[in-house]
Amino acid sequence: MSNENAPPESGGGPASFAAKGNAEDRPGILIVVSAPSGAGKSSLIKIVLSRVEGLGFSVSYTTRAPRGAEQEGVEYHFVTSEKFIAMRDRGEFLEWAEVHGHLYGTHIDSVQALLRSGQDVVFDVDIEGAEQISSRMPGAVTVFVLPPSPAELEARLSGRNLNPRDDMEFRLANAAREVRMSERFDYIVVNDDLEQAAKALEAIVVAERHRAVRAGGQVRAIIDTFGRGLPNA
Ligand code: ADP
Ligand code: 5GP
Repeated sequence: MSNENAPPESGGGPASFAAKGNAEDRPGILIVVSAPSGAGKSSLIKIVLSRVEGLGFSVSYTTRAPRGAEQEGVEYHFVTSEKFIAMRDRGEFLEWAEVHGHLYGTHIDSVQALLRSGQDVVFDVDIEGAEQISSRMPGAVTVFVLPPSPAELEARLSGRNLNPRDDMEFRLANAAREVRMSERFDYIVVNDDLEQAAKALEAIVVAERHRAVRAGGQVRAIIDTFGRGLPNA
């Protein structure tokens, strides 16, 4: 996976990402969700955030204008290109990319704050962003959301009806290229039925929390109690 936009290592680099604070006292998990635009990843992420305890959303910075009812600080932080470029040049982004003619980036401090508060973090980023996070943060879990067909993807983009026609065509053209990259991801979730897909994403988060390699202080403390032997043995 390429990493050409990754910021230089700095004081806020990956080593300081091993924050703990969740109930199990284990390092926080980075769950990176990618998909072609319109595949339904925002819808899926919203459902899973509302159902799974201890999950926080990484609110990205973007130079694109708010769409529909989007609010500053909820879906995105909306900034000018000048401000974005200054932040990027100061090395403040964990990853950044140009997508559909706009700049998008994940601020290191936002991720740190979520991890420090004991939450696992969900990212909604494009394929390039997923590659950058994966290569900088080897424990990150990557999930590709696959639309059931090109026709259904087009219908969803049209239904959203918030993009100009040429923007939509651009997004459809990118989708074919993006889908071919899906095999590089840890998981693929087909978003045909929204509820089934949400359950699959939820299951991935829960399963990742139970991986033995992530066992935290709570699990180790239980294992230790077995290691001490019986009191009167
Ligand atoms: P993305 O974040 O990937 O760009 P959205 O979550 O905004 O996609 O979804 C695009 C459109 O498709 C929205 O109108 C959403 O309501 C709709 N949608 C999402 N998932 C499904 C699904 N499983 N079935 C039908 N429509 C869906
Ligand atoms: P949209 O404009 O439809 O909200 O998002 C367009 C694309 O940008 C989506 O694929 C979305 O996942 C991606 N994106 C959103 N935030 C970020 C980010 O911080 N970094 C990267 N690399 N991509 C992002």
